[in-house]
Amino acid sequence: MMQRTLFSRRSGLLVRQAAATALDGPPAQRLDRRSASAVTIPPPASMLRPLEVPLRYLFGPGPSNVPPRVLAAGAKPIIGHLHPEMYEIMNDIKEGIRYAFQTENNMTISMSGSGHAAMECAVFNTVEPGESVLVAINGIWGERVAEIAERMGANVHKLVKTPGNYFSNQEIEQAVEKHKPVLFFLAHGESSAGLCHPIDGIGDICRKHGCLFLVDTVASLGAAPIFMDQQNIDILYTGSQKALNAPPGTAPISFNDRACHKMFNRKTKPVSYLFDMTYLSNYWGCGGETSRMYHHTGPVSGFFALRESLAILAEKGLEESWRKHKEVAAYLYKGLEDMGLKLFISEKDLRLPSVTTIAIPEGYDWRELLLYIMKNHQMEMTGGLGPSIGMVMRIGLMGYNCETANANMALNALADALKSCKKSKA
Ligand code: PMP
Repeated sequence: MMQRTLFSRRSGLLVRQAAATALDGPPAQRLDRRSASAVTIPPPASMLRPLEVPLRYLFGPGPSNVPPRVLAAGAKPIIGHLHPEMYEIMNDIKEGIRYAFQTENNMTISMSGSGHAAMECAVFNTVEPGESVLVAINGIWGERVAEIAERMGANVHKLVKTPGNYFSNQEIEQAVEKHKPVLFFLAHGESSAGLCHPIDGIGDICRKHGCLFLVDTVASLGAAPIFMDQQNIDILYTGSQKALNAPPGTAPISFNDRACHKMFNRKTKPVSYLFDMTYLSNYWGCGGETSRMYHHTGPVSGFFALRESLAILAEKGLEESWRKHKEVAAYLYKGLEDMGLKLFISEKDLRLPSVTTIAIPEGYDWRELLLYIMKNHQMEMTGGLGPSIGMVMRIGLMGYNCETANANMALNALADALKSCKKSKA
């Protein structure tokens, strides 16, 4: 017998008591007792409390509120990720993504991960170390992709503008000619600045110069038109948690034949096993596989929710979704301007309909305004991100949240904050 420290479940206290040493008894029992006695860290008090989640109006750049129908889909019983019923659901998701992206690409899947997973998947699979990559940077998303490409050993060239500005096709072509990249990245919806970048003609430029065109639509899909096939976009990805209104954690991505040719004729293996498209393609049955190899365990509930959100978009129709976002955004712009606020993107056609940026009202501390709105209106709006920090405040009305009633709530909350928060001396 020896003195050991044990945790008493009933009292929640650590108690010292005499217990048989774990080395007594036959070998199997000995092991059992030894592992039981190894618990010296008690269950934390936080884990013994029920989960509490406040109700919030998510009027920032995402995640946005999830409609009950999508929440219910995510709450359905789990099935195995390699069951035939799951293959069918995954096939439905592929069709839903193809509609949302306006593509016929067979190599269309969802990442098990957030938008960043799709960013990394796109770069890791299509670029080999030492190859040249060109990244358009006019906000945080170009910065991120440049860093991802640098980390995997690409030779990264940056085309840079301050947030809110865009690149002409001529500027892009000159840079492509100069750097001869294998991949050119552009964010369609630059959510850190609230800019919706023109896309027409860029795919043709990339094609002419033998480079792949990679486009980020995490913040714009469903809110602003994008036509993957017609616009000659080689790789397109999005996220689940913005206009699609699914919970964060899944990220649709599609590769056309040009992109597949590059990524499946590499000399080196992609740096990531989890994001290797050779395996993901099989997991998603892109080659028409009837039985699939185990690669990783997909987020089953996340895929249910994603399927439902894509179904809602298909039922509503892309044109109607784009029209609604434009209409509600226009209503919001007018309300903001009537309050004397200045929109950060002056050219109307360049504004991202899902995420509106306003210049920080003169004399105010933007953090104080946002805190006031959160505390008094249970509403999330945000400041800038990366290079736009201190330049903008952001209001997102996406998908399910894209209603004039919500725009009114956001305007009222902002007006209240402007009235109640003191102007700083600065
Ligand atoms: N790209 C854009 C345009 C985004 O807005 C975001 C998310 N804010 C991302 C990429 C990254 O997505 P996630 O946070 O889901 O990884």
